[in-house]
Amino acid sequence: MKILLIEDEPALQVAILTYLEGEGYTVTTVGTYRQGAEKAHDYDYDCLVIDLMLPDGNGLDLVRELKNRKSTMGIIVVTAKDALSDKLTGLDAGADDYLTKPFHLPELNARLRSVLRRRLFGGQAQINAGDLTLWPDQQRVSIRDSDIKLTGKEYELLLFLVTNADRLLSKSAIAEHVWGDAMDAADSHEFLYTHVKNLRRKLITAGCPDYIQTRYGAGYIFSTRLL
Ligand code: CA
Repeated sequence: MKILLIEDEPALQVAILTYLEGEGYTVTTVGTYRQGAEKAHDYDYDCLVIDLMLPDGNGLDLVRELKNRKSTMGIIVVTAKDALSDKLTGLDAGADDYLTKPFHLPELNARLRSVLRRRLFGGQAQINAGDLTLWPDQQRVSIRDSDIKLTGKEYELLLFLVTNADRLLSKSAIAEHVWGDAMDAADSHEFLYTHVKNLRRKLITAGCPDYIQTRYGAGYIFSTRLL
């Protein structure tokens, strides 16, 4: 899951980044409104976490702009305590949820999981795709009721493929989503080949049909139907 964090307090930014990366998220952090707006325009994220009081603007303006653009990104607004009207305005502007500072990091994780579940998985706690079942809250995968062990990146790779089933995903789109925005500057996405190969091998070894198809020169498609 890929998150854009716009927060201008350095200590809080680092604390959130460290925590969310530890929970397996891919996180991009910026400290100003302008940088945040640029990132939100240039890249895809599953969810935006935005502080409202930024040095060069009000986060609500970005929330409104994203909603006007019909962005499908989830949005969690972070407000200073006692700023009740900010919270209400944040939800009015189209945010999915809000948190009041100070908050416990696991609370942010719980809100993120809830927003992502609603937006990406139709509110379901589990995703079924052929013989595979994924539980995003637990980062768990099973094949016909038998759990398999994947690395964090293999899991994120599989989740991204499954949530975009039957769609061709370019190598650069996958690399950016799973490894972060800096990947758009990478000269080659050949490392991705190795990760996909390892993931496929693990799934097939565990008795799963080979749902991941290579489109040479283009990317990958996950499908349970094209077999
Ligand atoms: Ca602030």
